[in-house]
Amino acid sequence: MSKIVVLGSGVVGLAMAMLLARQGHEATVFERDDAPAPGSPEEAWSGWDRGGVAQFRQPHFLHCSARQIFDQHLPEVKEALLRAGCVTFDYLTLLPPSITDRAPRPGDERFVTVTGRRPVVEYAVARVAEEFLPIERGVAITGLLTGPSAAPGIPHVSGVRTTDGVEIRADLVVDAMGRRSKLPDWLGAIGARRPLEEAEESGFVYYTRYFRDASGTIPPCRAGLLTHFHSFSLLTLLCDSGTWSVTVFFFTGDPALKALRDPARWTKLIAACPAHAQWLEGEPISDVLAMGGIVDRYRRFVVDGAPVATGVVSVGDAWACTNPVQGRGIGIGLIHAVGTAEVVREHVDDPVALALAQDTMTKARATPWYRDTVAFDRRRTTQIAAAIAGREAPSPTGPLDLLPVAMLYDADLFRAFLEINSLLALPEDVLARPGLADRIVEVAGTHQPPVPRGPSREEVLRMLA
Ligand SMILES: Cc1cc2nc3c(=O)[nH]c(=O)nc-3n(C[C@H](O)[C@H](O)[C@H](O)COP(=O)(O)OP(=O)(O)OC[C@H]3O[C@@H](n4cnc5c(N)ncnc54)[C@H](O)[C@@H]3O)c2cc1C
Repeated sequence: MSKIVVLGSGVVGLAMAMLLARQGHEATVFERDDAPAPGSPEEAWSGWDRGGVAQFRQPHFLHCSARQIFDQHLPEVKEALLRAGCVTFDYLTLLPPSITDRAPRPGDERFVTVTGRRPVVEYAVARVAEEFLPIERGVAITGLLTGPSAAPGIPHVSGVRTTDGVEIRADLVVDAMGRRSKLPDWLGAIGARRPLEEAEESGFVYYTRYFRDASGTIPPCRAGLLTHFHSFSLLTLLCDSGTWSVTVFFFTGDPALKALRDPARWTKLIAACPAHAQWLEGEPISDVLAMGGIVDRYRRFVVDGAPVATGVVSVGDAWACTNPVQGRGIGIGLIHAVGTAEVVREHVDDPVALALAQDTMTKARATPWYRDTVAFDRRRTTQIAAAIAGREAPSPTGPLDLLPVAMLYDADLFRAFLEINSLLALPEDVLARPGLADRIVEVAGTHQPPVPRGPSREEVLRMLA
């Protein structure tokens, strides 16, 4: 049994700590925010002060991979989500009418997820975690402690220091401090090399409003959860307890659309989209919440074949954070946490082997999702830039780019799309299936990309003027 400290009590940090506690390690979570987990889901939504998570009340969706991980590794969490009012959602209910083959397939249950508002999800995870292990809230960590090196010239982390100067020794430190994690600076302060880091502004602004129906009736979903119009997109997410969120997002470099911050204009735009207007039929339970300036950022802690330090690993957003257009952050983080737990189980007594195995695992299981998400962002910003300039967007060419069209006309391609979208199977693994890439190209070749029903760019600009 090892002593492990997990820094940060977001959903990924808590899940990580529970996975480690389940292996028999003495895991403790240290969280900077001092507010305790509230007494009910509704208090979590209305009053939980979680300043450490800037996106706490922004729209969140848990993908099927997250549900699958909870089922396999932390079934208590899924039970707690359901008790907290989270909704069970079967993605196959979105099978479009253009697909006539409605026959079920073996394994279709993998497309079911359980999701809710982020404060409610985190409330449920935190209540379970409290039964597993200590969560020390109101303890901010400010730097790393070092011990004897496990390999020449590589600093070894042997604990952390709080802002009050308290030293906490540990066999392993897990950085789950989210997208604002300062671990590279802390590593620099103990003489370690900096990790490799890539970062780019994702380029989107989000305007979100939440609604509730007192009778618990959720409006019918007449389009997918995510619909891309010319220069804006709409994201409609089912949440818990008869609530849902509606988000308009667009390119940062499109100042004309910033007028959508005004609730009246925001409402007018949604009302003008026939397949989405029904999402306004509820009582608004928030203002139009804005968020922008979100970066895609990735870190690698093995440089030139050697770890920058031992005794410390990063998980979830602290390792890599993505623009939330595809709502993948928690799902990717949980995949990473499960892989990290496996690495710890194998190598906890060998710090160098642990650091190298963590890098290999991350590269194989989590990095491809980061790359896929960034590639999606770049494709979408190219499309939007073309729409703003009044140009045709470049035509999709490769099978992965053509899949969003082909999946509307073929039941198996629809499932292939869902597997990728929901982080159930990596794109390269799906495309490697015999005949699948050819089938995508063939189906997409006989159909035009659908044009979502709603106002043209000129009409939107007139509406917002
Ligand atoms: C607008 C927006 C919408 C999103 N929507 C989705 C979605 O639909 N689906 C999805 O899966 N993901 C979504 N995400 C991503 C998701 O929010 C993150 O992936 C997720 O929060 C990562 O969890 P985490 O535990 O790694 O980090 P976080 O949740 O960020 O938690 C980090 C924790 O570390 C604590 N901390 C920081 N510094 C210290 C310190 N020095 N000492 C102690 N504690 C510290 C913080 O207070 C915080 O509690 C969205 C993100 C954004 C920005």
